[in-house]
Amino acid sequence: RDGLMQPRPLTIAHILERAERLYAHKHVVTADAERVTYADVAVHTRRLATALASLDVPVGARVGTFASNSRRHLELYLAVPATKRVLHSINIRLPAEHLEYIVGHAEDDVVFVDRALLPRIWPSADRLPRVRYWVVLPDDSPEDNPDDNPEDGPVPIPSDPRVLDYDELVSGSAPFAGSFEDTFVLADENLAAGLCYTSGTTGRPKGVLYSHRSTVLHCLGTLAAGFIGLSESDVVMPIVPMFHANAWGLPYGAMMTGAALVLPGRSADPAHLLRLMEAQRVTVAGAVPTVWTSLVPQLHAHDLSAVRFLLGGGSAVPPALAETYRATVGVPITHSWGMTEISPVGVIGGTRTQHLDATEEERVAVRAAQGQPLPLVTLRIVDVETGQELPRDGRAVGEVQVAGPWVAGGYFRGEGGDSFTEDGWLRTGDLATIDAEGYLRLVDRMKDLIKSGGEWISSVELEAAVSSHPDVVEVAVIARPDPRWMERPVAYVVLREGSTTTADELARHITPMVASWWLPDEFVFMATLPKTGTGKLSKSALRESLRLTG
Ligand code: ADP
Repeated sequence: RDGLMQPRPLTIAHILERAERLYAHKHVVTADAERVTYADVAVHTRRLATALASLDVPVGARVGTFASNSRRHLELYLAVPATKRVLHSINIRLPAEHLEYIVGHAEDDVVFVDRALLPRIWPSADRLPRVRYWVVLPDDSPEDNPDDNPEDGPVPIPSDPRVLDYDELVSGSAPFAGSFEDTFVLADENLAAGLCYTSGTTGRPKGVLYSHRSTVLHCLGTLAAGFIGLSESDVVMPIVPMFHANAWGLPYGAMMTGAALVLPGRSADPAHLLRLMEAQRVTVAGAVPTVWTSLVPQLHAHDLSAVRFLLGGGSAVPPALAETYRATVGVPITHSWGMTEISPVGVIGGTRTQHLDATEEERVAVRAAQGQPLPLVTLRIVDVETGQELPRDGRAVGEVQVAGPWVAGGYFRGEGGDSFTEDGWLRTGDLATIDAEGYLRLVDRMKDLIKSGGEWISSVELEAAVSSHPDVVEVAVIARPDPRWMERPVAYVVLREGSTTTADELARHITPMVASWWLPDEFVFMATLPKTGTGKLSKSALRESLRLTG
């Protein structure tokens, strides 16, 4: 190694110890407006580290969290990997069957669960005998989603030797006094740090195992200026749940740079989210498009003048929605494209200097693209049939494949081999173009594309067109089997309350925007559209419900 740099490992422990040393005074604000400092978080984290050892949680064991965005969840984000255990954040909206599969497959040794969420997981406890302890996190959400908390009043805590109280556990443990970072020996940056399961809309959920190295590099990648670019002066609010691919890296990113964090808890109530954003003068927030849509009716009633950057990801942000935010808040919603397998952020949208002289219309079109890859992420598109790489000319459409140091190279326990190419790239199942400036523009998910008379129709583009009608709140376009054309598009639409817009009016509205044979065969008006466990519009649930109702 003559003359080389130190091979010091990249670890999440560094993120914790950096925040502790440099940003001890900065705040974390939670749903009930509790304000703690990073110093407090660090002390709790150090106590929690000792507690994990006292529970005999082995090094390398998976520690499950079944929790909302809270200060205690953040402490688990830090203490679990800093002590070389693996943080398995579990989607709180999974059906029991998936939940039991995931906890069993991960072989979680301990699960930390929000008190209010006990009714969703405790009934499974006896079928999950490997979980030795269930540690209950006290509630800190003043408002709950009605469907989140079916019981009135605080959820009873089971009297069972496996059940422990988080606050008692932590306050009863002495803080670890040493440097976590120094306990990582040289080769340890490739130790597993986190585990997330993909939504599993088809087949079994698959585990994606993040390493310390991949997590730190992903964090730095998102922090690059011109991408998400968090800084010490930011106030960051991950509305995206901490179980949804590590809340897109926002919690670690905020701590790395010393930004303040606002953790909004379990409630998705628009008024609650907007009040927090206003009161805490949030500058950066991230959420799936359905959540941004839900805030629109109340946007005008809140002062969001501190906001400088809004991230939307998980599914395509309809351009009309992004522009509504630009008009009311002054900041559009910027695309973040990725997936659980990409830690999850791979691409960030928005305009660059080459667009300074563009017309407003052109700039809207640029913002509608998913964007450019983060530093260290490499994208290519390939022909679905031949596997040939296609030109980056903004026209050729192919499957997106990704390579990079925070891109999965396989699934936990070796499952899902066909998701990776022979040369080790991740196949995303997304169809897109890449232009000469490296902008990725998503056409559709392969499984959502509509095949009509031998030609393809993009459900994403149709949805963008339909949702540009001012009365349309949400829309999902899916294929209906058709004897003549094979498939035809049908649009399922939620209208603004009180709207009397008709199917004909919607058809007239989109006619100038799409090819005539793209016009949906039918517009079906719905009161709501089904959502996935991470809050995205669920086309598979929609298809399922249509099958059921014939
Ligand atoms: P998760 O959202 O938990 O990562 P998935 O892996 O199912 O769950 O979601 C990844 C998929 O979401 C991508 O393959 C892509 O189809 C879609 N997606 C994510 N971000 C965007 C975006 N900004 N625009 C369009 N689609 C997106």
